[in-house]
Amino acid sequence: MKILVPVKRVVDYNVKVRVKSDGTGVDIANVKMSMNPFDEIAAEEAVRLKEAGVAAEVVVVSAGVTQCQETLRTALAIGADRAILIESNEDLQPLAVAKLLKALVDKEQPQLVILGKQAIDDDSNQTGQMLAALAGLPQATFASRVAIVDEGGQKRATVAREVDGGAETLTLTLPAVVTTDLRLNEPRYVTLPNIMKAKKKPLETIKPEDLGVDVAPRLKTLKVAEPPKRSAGVMVPDVQTLVEKLKTEAKVL
Ligand code: AMP
Repeated sequence: MKILVPVKRVVDYNVKVRVKSDGTGVDIANVKMSMNPFDEIAAEEAVRLKEAGVAAEVVVVSAGVTQCQETLRTALAIGADRAILIESNEDLQPLAVAKLLKALVDKEQPQLVILGKQAIDDDSNQTGQMLAALAGLPQATFASRVAIVDEGGQKRATVAREVDGGAETLTLTLPAVVTTDLRLNEPRYVTLPNIMKAKKKPLETIKPEDLGVDVAPRLKTLKVAEPPKRSAGVMVPDVQTLVEKLKTEAKVL
């Protein structure tokens, strides 16, 4: 069984991004970039399935600028077997990425595609769902547990999802699309020997044209603004004053 894991290069979660003074976006010049955390979880899950003997090959793919190679190398160091960079300098929006991934699914024929539930830069939470729709595949989003079961030669994925007020378990026929939630697993630290090994693993570079996909943006950002600054709080001497202020000033009681 082959697993495809799309990984996105995003601004590191520890970086506090600043809005550009002209309000056209956030300034990402010279900031630390890393693999989207949910995609690390996706790569970890795929590698665990391989280590358990369930999967035979883990292929990672990233769409974006040349530097996405670094993100792919990290995924290879986690344990993926080979990587594909779909190189483009365009602003790749979720629909464009989903179309690229659909074309790659047609080409690679994976049994399972594991994506992050969302990228922490655009917080779109769309790519997995769009891919499932475009490819006509069953999907289970926000997975907190994934198991592959073999029912008389027919492989299925059993996926647990955390939903409001409980957990839901779905069963999907493969091939299928799964997106990861935070509690699915805790990704391993990549070790130096594995980083060295990853340098020797195959990394193929293709262009969106090779997949016959038009990646032109369909959405236009009108304006990006900082959230309003929070005003300073006040210390109250006792509970009685607090209740009084909540009644008379905040008017919430
Ligand atoms: P989003 O819909 O942008 O929140 O992204 C959801 C998931 O889609 C991510 O966690 C990745 O697994 C995948 N994805 C989004 N953009 C890219 C990209 N440029 N390259 C590879 N995978 C991506």
